Amino acid sequence: MTASPSSTEATSMRTRLCGSLRVEDVGAAVTLCGWVAKRRDHGEHLAFVDLRDHTGIVQCVVPGTVDVRSEYVIAVEGVVRPRPDGTANAELPTGEVEVGECVVTVLNPAEPPPFAVADRVEVDEVVRLKHRFVDLRRPSMQANLRLRATVNRALRAAMDRQGFVEVETPLLWAPTPEGAREFTVPSRLSPGACYVLPQSPQLAKQLLMVAGVDRYFQIARCLRDEDLRADRQFEFSQLDLEASFAGQEDVLEFVSEAVLDAAEAVTGVRPTDIPRMTWAEALDRYGTDKPDLRFGMELIDLTAVFEGTGVKAFGAASVKAIVLQDGAGLSRSRLDGITDRAKQLGAKGLAWFRVTADPGTGGDDPALALDSPLDRFLSDQERAGLLSATGASAGDLVLVVADEYRLACTVLGQLRVELGGRPVGEGPYRYVWVVDFPMFDGFDEAGNPVPAHHPFTMPHPEDLDRLESDPASVRSQAYDLVLNGWELGSGSVRIHRADIQSRVFSVLGIGEEEAQARFGFLLGAFRFGAPPHAGFAVGLDRLVAIFAGEDNIREVIAFPKTQSGADPMTGAPKPLAPGVLAGLGLQLIPSKG
Ligand code: ASP
Repeated sequence: MTASPSSTEATSMRTRLCGSLRVEDVGAAVTLCGWVAKRRDHGEHLAFVDLRDHTGIVQCVVPGTVDVRSEYVIAVEGVVRPRPDGTANAELPTGEVEVGECVVTVLNPAEPPPFAVADRVEVDEVVRLKHRFVDLRRPSMQANLRLRATVNRALRAAMDRQGFVEVETPLLWAPTPEGAREFTVPSRLSPGACYVLPQSPQLAKQLLMVAGVDRYFQIARCLRDEDLRADRQFEFSQLDLEASFAGQEDVLEFVSEAVLDAAEAVTGVRPTDIPRMTWAEALDRYGTDKPDLRFGMELIDLTAVFEGTGVKAFGAASVKAIVLQDGAGLSRSRLDGITDRAKQLGAKGLAWFRVTADPGTGGDDPALALDSPLDRFLSDQERAGLLSATGASAGDLVLVVADEYRLACTVLGQLRVELGGRPVGEGPYRYVWVVDFPMFDGFDEAGNPVPAHHPFTMPHPEDLDRLESDPASVRSQAYDLVLNGWELGSGSVRIHRADIQSRVFSVLGIGEEEAQARFGFLLGAFRFGAPPHAGFAVGLDRLVAIFAGEDNIREVIAFPKTQSGADPMTGAPKPLAPGVLAGLGLQLIPSKG
């Protein structure tokens, strides 16, 4: 069979792919290329070579001996035949056939690999990254890269269908307002001056709106010099978009369409519409702006139960609880550990109550009792109130934090995830839009409010008149998309009017001069006809990691950095040669110690 050159399988060197052979191909003469996964000799007359390419493994039978070892690159010519009776391998999709009478050509010998190319092999992260080119040969990594390409393709198609234009924005740029530390690139032609690698195309895409592009998107690379975590790398990709003459509802619609398309492309099932929740509700019920809706364990308010209480520990503005089902069996030392964790998260303390069946009451429906060092301080009414408000049953554990409202919520929200949560990539997929974020998130050292999103975010129209008098109460037109407890992305309606922008800058403590110095080019452009506009960015690495069932975005990035920001393969970051520094007009200050 000669495959046509346009076939996705055939090239000038091969006719088929290893993983594609099936019983239907029996009798076909094939030429395959790939890497030796395994070689087994049966005496001098027969050798078995498992040949691997990105589609899978097929067994090749060579009459005589063959001088190949693991990871040699070879071409095999032979004829597809059924495996002898009783030797089919149910674990391989190609397991019913083999390629017989093989002639092997070594295309390139290889040194023994640093680790076996198989999914179930545990390998140290640094070793994997140092030999990423071998690591990526593992079937799961191949699948992840291809899944990522599928997601990209679906997102692009959805944006295209919705009338968005793909525009590339510069990587050498000026500071942007996301608030993260930036990577700087010294300029050779202007010694002493630097470019900044963009934290996002935020300002560029807003300029594209002024430019009349109307609907922009880009699968953009963003760079932020921040500590790395399971869901954060220095460089990451996002589906970045912006639309003119559009508001929050439009953007939620555009993004939902793209993300649901991507989900459908990888899972075959289109999730139902994405529910919505206000930021205030998310905080109240889940103690976070990234609620994981795959499980309940919602926060319960006990403030009314303990109003005017004599229990000192509960004399706080807010008393909140969560119930850990069947948690009463946790040991005392485990409970101490959870208490320490609550303190580490900022709580003054944590009260726990094991719910037990009252031994005195007996019968089919015994009354409930509490087992806790605090129990003897509770009034009967408080004990009954706690049980009825939490709905806890015998065998459950109730955890209570009494504190300032937001702190009580966030501490329990975190404990909820740590005690009841599941790995992020584990189904089902539960999306939620979180809307009506506060405009500001606390205050900086100078006492100025800190923008919760970025300073170009439009305040909620109903709250605009309180911008100066009570900034903490002002909501913004910012929204996040959350999936399984991970923030997938955020966006906002932008300020397009100079008067509102200068009010926001002034509340933020950014004077006219500073605003001009930092964002003058944008503010200047806005004087030349800025349409109302709004946008969003979806974190691609996170989205793909969840679809791939991975807890760390490194698993879906071809060449990621380690936790300490290094690339063990290239050795980056590396010191620069003195000549290079001098050419940039730079000199190193010797580091202390
Ligand atoms: N620039 C924002 C970000 O990268 C997203 C947006 O507001 O469009 O988080």
